[in-house]
Amino acid sequence: MHRSRSRADDDVRMRGFAKRHTVAQALAWLDMQVHTLAAEAAPLRNAAGRVLAASAASEVDVPGFDRATMDGYAVAAASTEGATPYTPLPLTVVGESMPGREFQGAVSLGEAVRIMTGAPMPEGADAVLPAEFAGIESDPRRITALAAVSPEKNLGKRGEDIARGTVLLDAGRVLRPQDLGVLSSIGVSKVEVVRRPRVRLAITGNELLPAGTPPHGARIADANGPMLEALIDRDGGVADFPGLIPDDREAILAALQSEADVVVVSGGSSVGIEDLAPMLVAQHGELAVHGIAMRPSSPTGLGRMGDCLVFLLPGNPVSSLCAYDFFAGRAIRALGGRGKQWPYRSVRGRLSRKLSSPIGRLDYARVKIADGSVDPLAVGGASVLSSTTRADGFMIVPDDSEGFPAGAEVEVWLYDAHA
Ligand code: AMP
Ligand code: MG
Repeated sequence: MHRSRSRADDDVRMRGFAKRHTVAQALAWLDMQVHTLAAEAAPLRNAAGRVLAASAASEVDVPGFDRATMDGYAVAAASTEGATPYTPLPLTVVGESMPGREFQGAVSLGEAVRIMTGAPMPEGADAVLPAEFAGIESDPRRITALAAVSPEKNLGKRGEDIARGTVLLDAGRVLRPQDLGVLSSIGVSKVEVVRRPRVRLAITGNELLPAGTPPHGARIADANGPMLEALIDRDGGVADFPGLIPDDREAILAALQSEADVVVVSGGSSVGIEDLAPMLVAQHGELAVHGIAMRPSSPTGLGRMGDCLVFLLPGNPVSSLCAYDFFAGRAIRALGGRGKQWPYRSVRGRLSRKLSSPIGRLDYARVKIADGSVDPLAVGGASVLSSTTRADGFMIVPDDSEGFPAGAEVEVWLYDAHA
């Protein structure tokens, strides 16, 4: 780690990387830096996708009363004993119970209360005779039971959905839409959720045109800004992307001195003459890792500026994506209370051809997968971002591996959650 060096030594430009860190070393440093952010209250209605900060238990029963689960007649089951279509038993209708408007009174033997699904069961009734088993008489106060119902039939007991005291959701839960429904049903209107990490996006490069501008001459349109903004959002961060930054010391330093929890810098992370960010982080903060034994993304830097974590991502778009997923995304997810692991689903398949990689370097290979056959894309360059849009996913060759022979079973991480 490059911690206690003199100022002049902070300038690594044009000297190349003396030694690269392994991915494992970089992750070990990173994981020591990251702690879950504090909780904040969020209105329930905006809480889908947020991370619950503390477990949620119910202080009430849901429902708070026994209720009908069918339309029909609330009765004492004993009043229907022996009833068949050939031996109908007469019942006297003494009132009705509607959802939100309960019957005031009790039901005795030989009596019935007209009841709708969701309405409270009256006292004395322990079953619902479904409407289709009730014979209608000309006198609306009279019906006949055409079938017997057993006790507890066609009703839901108090607390059948949620019993008071039950822990419904654990801390760390990423709230699903139905979780909001359950929380609302126990009377909650606000939830304690982990604060979303604020992420300052510093997209640097004199050659860049703002996203949406047709590229012309030697200028290229910014590909990393929109991609990283979407990745940060996917990982639960709040991206702050005020605009492109030139390869200029003052401008980059200003972006690094941010109020955010994380600064993600794209471009200028290597050892070229215009690669200012690593030197600035080393001078004004801590550049803990610079240069990682991986491909793509080897010119990646990790560090801190005060309380803020800094990620220096190479400008080559594939490198930016890969380094984001390995390092920045992991930190953003962990700060926000999410799992460190990739938000990608993995599947297994067999390599269609040999994939080699030198010992000592981790490789991130884009692949297509069809019928269980994993086909590494021939285009390997980190500048070819369309390789990641043509690919279905990626696979990793660890740094202690020379690669895999054709036919080897490998794990593929799918870019699409729903593929
Ligand atoms: P750098 O990391 O600044 O040396 O850039 C490496 C390569 O990536 C160069 O070809 C840059 O033009 C290109 N590049 C840098 N930033 C971006 C960006 N935001 N979008 C697309 N390409 C970029
Ligand atoms: Mg550059």
